[in-house]
Amino acid sequence: MVRIRGLHKSFGDLQVLKGIDIDVKPGEVVCVIGPSGSGKSTLLRCVNLLERPTRGEIEVDGVVLTHRDCDLDKARRRIGMVFQQFNLFPHLTVLENVTVAMRKVLKVDKKTAVETARGQLASVGVGDKAGEYPARLSGGQQQRVAIARALAMRPHLMLFDEPTSALDPELVGDVLTVMRDLAESGMTMLVVTHEMGFAREVADRVVFMDDGVIVEEGAPAQVIGDPQHERTRTFLHRVL
Ligand code: ATP
Ligand code: MG
Repeated sequence: MVRIRGLHKSFGDLQVLKGIDIDVKPGEVVCVIGPSGSGKSTLLRCVNLLERPTRGEIEVDGVVLTHRDCDLDKARRRIGMVFQQFNLFPHLTVLENVTVAMRKVLKVDKKTAVETARGQLASVGVGDKAGEYPARLSGGQQQRVAIARALAMRPHLMLFDEPTSALDPELVGDVLTVMRDLAESGMTMLVVTHEMGFAREVADRVVFMDDGVIVEEGAPAQVIGDPQHERTRTFLHRVL
């Protein structure tokens, strides 16, 4: 589903990603962990080419996004992304937030879009908020709307960039539950997270990144439970 090869990304003289290789198979959940500034967000943004890699190849769903002739708009339609900040449109209702891209990008008719949106909102537990504006929702509810909005586009891959780190602690669990359900439904997911419990329970594989390289990767029990590298151990000591 995802094939990342030799990914390099620099901003001017600053080398942020220094040769990253990652595979995510269909239905797999891969969690990326690592210290602040190690390049995790940059990596995720390179997967859908929100950032253009300096070097390397990104393939999603059989399409090479880094190829010069790639139709990026089309390729991105099947990649959902959820950010730390929820990025909902403040002037649109919850329902409109979910339907707008379905209508404009997928050209779904209004009735179908509304039905799909209501179904997605219900499935993430905010079905009763359809008529509200985002500002009237809690952070956890807003984040679940953002997930519903991404899912309404019927993505083949979901990218999550620390979706719970802006939330009050008591709201984190609801969002993680939605993500866990999504993983169990078979969605392919690449998740940057500081939630080691989630990574341990849900991830098929954990990738530990530091300073733009993958230091170690493997099963969660291995990387989190029995890290082999000093850098991984130091990081885990700080976050666990
Ligand atoms: P955090 O855990 O704090 O979110 P991160 O691992 O996601 O960190 P990135 O956001 O990928 O880290 O940033 C990695 C490095 O790249 C940082 O030094 C950052 O300042 C730099 N960087 C990121 N985006 C840009 C940009 N658009 N222009 C210049 N430098 C950038
Ligand atoms: Mg980040």
